[in-house]
Amino acid sequence: MPSKSAAHTGTTNYRMFIDGEWVSSSKNESFDVVNPATERRIASVPKASRDQTKEALEGAERAQPGWEDLSPLKRASFLIKTAQLIRRDKERLARTLTSEQGKPLFEARSEIDGAASNFEYYAEYARRIEGDVLPSDNARQTVMILKLPIGVVASITPWNFPSATVARKLAPALITGNAVVTKPSSNTPLSTIEMVRLMEEAGFPKGVVNVVTGSGSEVGDELVTNSITGLVTMTGSTEAGRTIMAHSSSHLPKLILELGGKAPFIVWHDADIPWALKCAIWARFWNCGQTCICSERMYVDEKIRDKFVPAFVRMAKELRLGDPLKANTDLGPMVSDQERKTSIDFVHKAEREGDKIIIGGEKPKSKNRGWYFEPTIIDDVKQGSPLVQDEIFGPVVPILEVDSFDKAIDHANDSKYGLASYVFTKDSTRVLKAMNRIRFGESYINQVGPEQLQGAHTGFRQSGLGAEGSRYGLECYTQLKTCYVDWNDKPSLPYLFPYGARK
Ligand code: NAP
Repeated sequence: MPSKSAAHTGTTNYRMFIDGEWVSSSKNESFDVVNPATERRIASVPKASRDQTKEALEGAERAQPGWEDLSPLKRASFLIKTAQLIRRDKERLARTLTSEQGKPLFEARSEIDGAASNFEYYAEYARRIEGDVLPSDNARQTVMILKLPIGVVASITPWNFPSATVARKLAPALITGNAVVTKPSSNTPLSTIEMVRLMEEAGFPKGVVNVVTGSGSEVGDELVTNSITGLVTMTGSTEAGRTIMAHSSSHLPKLILELGGKAPFIVWHDADIPWALKCAIWARFWNCGQTCICSERMYVDEKIRDKFVPAFVRMAKELRLGDPLKANTDLGPMVSDQERKTSIDFVHKAEREGDKIIIGGEKPKSKNRGWYFEPTIIDDVKQGSPLVQDEIFGPVVPILEVDSFDKAIDHANDSKYGLASYVFTKDSTRVLKAMNRIRFGESYINQVGPEQLQGAHTGFRQSGLGAEGSRYGLECYTQLKTCYVDWNDKPSLPYLFPYGARK
C-alpha cells in the first residue's frame, strides 16, 4: 500500500503521479484548492510544466504495449480492485469531494458510488470487446474487423463531477488496452489525485495511469497538441471544446468531447403534477444547478401555469441552503466566486431587460462566507433571451409559458446545445412525439436522472462529439482494424480484379 506521504508532502501538499512516481512541480509552482463553503485554502497542488506533462505522456507511451499485452481479463482485475478500494474509502473520498467542490455530502457519496460502478461496469466488458468476422467476396478468404487500443489517451475533466467524470473516462480507456494521462479541473484536483492513489494501490503497472495538474491552457494544451496523444477525451464547456478541436488539428488525435447543455424541461397539463414538481426541483437545483444535464429552462403548459409556477416557487423557497457537510443540507455553495458571478450577471442582465425575478437573484444575507447563491426563478422570459439560449450553470431557471406541445418541442430544439431534455406528460402520443422530435442526446420522460451506466451519454449540435457510458462509449476508445485473410492452398490472382479489369 502506498504511504500517504507519496501523494502528499505534509498533510495538504499534493503531488502528481508521473510514470510511477509521485512528483512536485519541476518549476516549483503550485496553486491552492479552496473550500467553496468556507473560502479557506484546503490544499496546495503542483503546476506541471509542459515538460512534465510530456514526461507523463512518454511514460504512458512506454507502458502501453505491455498493458495491451495483458489479457482483457487481467486488465479487468485492476479495475475491479480499484472499485473495491473506492468503496472501501467511500466516506473519505466523499468528504474530500464535498470539501473541494461544495456539493452536499449525500450527493458526493452517490458520486463516489458512481465512480466505483464505472470501474465495475467496464471490467465486465473484458470478455466483450468484440470484433466482427465477415464473409469475403472471394473463396477461402476471411474478413475480420478487430478493435485495437488507440495507444495513449489524454483525459481532461471538469469540476462539477470530479470523481464520476474521471472514472467514466479512465475505466473504458484502460479496459480496452490504452494507457492514460488525466488532468483534472484546477478547481477540484484532489478527487482525481485520490483516485489515482487508489489505482496505484490496486497495482496498475508503472506508467499506465498518470495524473498531471495545472491549467487547461498550459497542461491541457500540451496533452492536446502533443503527437503522443492518440485520443483526447474531454468533458467541459463548449468553448474549451472548440479550442481543443482547433489546437488538436495539428496532429488529429481522435476526440471525445462532452460539452455544455441547456436542457429544456417541458411539463404538460396531463402530467402527474406533484411528481413533475418534485422532479423539476431536483432537475434544476441538484448540485446547485451545476450539472450538464440540469434543467436550464422550463416550458409550462398555459393550462397549468397558474398552479404549477407558484407551487414550484414555494418548493424552491423551502430548499435548505447551507454547510454541505451537514446532513439536512439540500443546496451547498457554488464551486467558485467566478461561477457565482456568472450566474449573478445572467440575472442582472435579465432584470435590466424587464424579466420578472420571482425569487432569488442574490447572495444569501445569512451567509457571510462561502460562494452561496439563492435559488432563482425568473418568469415570462422570451425564447430569444440569453437566459434561454446560453448555458447558465447555476441555480437559476427561466420559465416560459407555451400554448401547444409542438411549440414546446420547437422551442426546446431552438438551441445550439443538445445534451439532455425532460418531458412530463401521460399522453402516449406526446411521449412518442417527444422521443422522436426532440433533438437531444438524452430524454428523461416522466423522470429525472442521473444517467445509467448502460445509457449512452452524448449530444446533438454543440454539446459534443462521440459518446460516454454504455458499449457505444467503450467503442470510442478502440481503433477499428480490418484484416483480409487468404487461406487458399494455391492462391490465384483474379480476385484482385473483381470488377473485371482483367479476365
Ligand atoms: P471548462 O472550463 O471547459 O474546463 C474543463 C476542463 O478543460 C478543465 O480541466 C480545464 O482546465 C480544461 N481546459 C480548459 N481549456 C482548455 C484548453 N484550451 N485545452 C485543454 N484543456 C482545457 O469547464 P468547467 O467549467 O470545468 O465545467 C463546466 C462545463 O462542463 C459546463 O459547460 C458543463 O456543461 C460542462 N460539462 C459537460 C458534461 C457533459 O457530459 N457533456 C458534463 C459535465 C460538465 P482548467 O479549468 O484547470 O484550466
